[in-house]
Amino acid sequence: MNRRYKKLGIEKRNRLLELAYIDPITGLGNYNAYLARTKEKLEMNDKKTMIILDIDKFKSFNKKYGHMKGNELLRRVGEEIKHAIRKTDIVCRLANDVFGIFLVGEVDVENITRRLNNKISRIKIGDIWYNLRISMGVYICDKEEKDVQSIIDKAIMAHDSIKGKYHVPYGVFTEDFEQKMIRESEIESMMEDAIKNEEFEVYYQPQISTKTEKMEGAEALVRWKKDEKMISPSEFIPIFEKNYFIIKLDEYVYERVCKNIQEMKKQIKEIPKISVNISKESLLEKDFLEKYMKITEQYGISPNDIEIEITERTTVDNNIDMKEILEEIKEKGFSIAIDDFGSGYSSLNMLEMLPIDMIKIDKSFIDRIGEKNETINLLEIILLISKKLNLKTVAEGVEKSEQVQYLKKENCDFIQGYFYAKPLEFDAFKNYVEENK
Ligand code: C2E
Ligand code: CA
Ligand code: CA
Repeated sequence: MNRRYKKLGIEKRNRLLELAYIDPITGLGNYNAYLARTKEKLEMNDKKTMIILDIDKFKSFNKKYGHMKGNELLRRVGEEIKHAIRKTDIVCRLANDVFGIFLVGEVDVENITRRLNNKISRIKIGDIWYNLRISMGVYICDKEEKDVQSIIDKAIMAHDSIKGKYHVPYGVFTEDFEQKMIRESEIESMMEDAIKNEEFEVYYQPQISTKTEKMEGAEALVRWKKDEKMISPSEFIPIFEKNYFIIKLDEYVYERVCKNIQEMKKQIKEIPKISVNISKESLLEKDFLEKYMKITEQYGISPNDIEIEITERTTVDNNIDMKEILEEIKEKGFSIAIDDFGSGYSSLNMLEMLPIDMIKIDKSFIDRIGEKNETINLLEIILLISKKLNLKTVAEGVEKSEQVQYLKKENCDFIQGYFYAKPLEFDAFKNYVEENK
């Protein structure tokens, strides 16, 4: 064969190989390259750490600045990662805005994730700085591992575990993860039937006025009774928020609440306002208000009977106009409460901007009453600000009489907690309402 031709053939083959392993946008290795290179390193004796790094809201960046800028950004992120790690470590781009990093040798996870975060959270393209948020999943291979894909899966699981937690930049895989994932899919496999079989029930927890000592409100809390066992909302609600089943459940609970209010109104003259937890996912549905108004009317009750409770987390998404959504809800006559206030997401100016009636002070503040430290001052400040802004306050998770005394002294308006009552089944709650007229 002609030598020249043969040479061309090799070049062509190399080129094809290159294409199969190189990401044309960043010049880094691609997914295939990551698998191959990581596998090689797995044979080595050293400790190894995998980090899956994801750029948050990259899609919005692309939309806003165009694909050219988007590609440039990916290239720059790749460069920054390279600068943050050792030459012997690996970085590849695995998919759109997802990078795989593989570190060999001792690694201080706190340190490396902070370094990556610092380098990437502000990126300069041309003359302009862009602020980015990244999230990472970490898996430390401390036992012998052979299967690269299973290591990637674990790092991805660790990444998934921090979804929605805006102030947590990375998650680390731990051995109980697998157990958790199994439980998660178990819950997912039971949820549809649970609605059909009416396994969900609504309980009501009284809110007592510090001025009158009477119940003036109550919070509706969902309960899942499965074969005589209770599954805790703290376990299933986060799962439902991730897989959007919460939209169905919130609506189900809301309908139950309306039905219960209708029944109470027939028998009792004055009933307390009932507050209902609505997750962000439900609130962002296009026809949310229309749907909920329809249910309200169907049971012949009024939005004035109901308070919509949204968490602080819901209010901090910059991409949505929460003000507009909440104003429409207010216009119909519902009142609005901010749940878990002080748990770490909100800004004070949001309190002024949004049409809020009530602040629910997170239990963590209440737990610290009696301790001599700054937190108490913070609680006082929250109560003062609320007064200034004409917002009502309710303290959550109040268990002790010294907490009650303190909250009365500081002019908190309402108290909710085991000290007065646990969440009650509807019939027990109805009796409670009747006795507390
Ligand atoms: P949350 O809205 O902060 O509800 C207060 C939680 O504190 C409830 O837990 C309640 O039972 C508990 N609690 C009340 N008083 C005390 C007390 O004195 N001491 C202690 N230790 N705990 C107290 P629960 O019922 O397990 O609900 C957990 C979370 O699940 C709720 O937190 C809420 O975020 C969510 N959730 C409950 N029902 C619904 C619902 O129908 N829809 C949505 N989207 N979320 C719900
Ligand atoms: Ca709540
Ligand atoms: Ca709460």
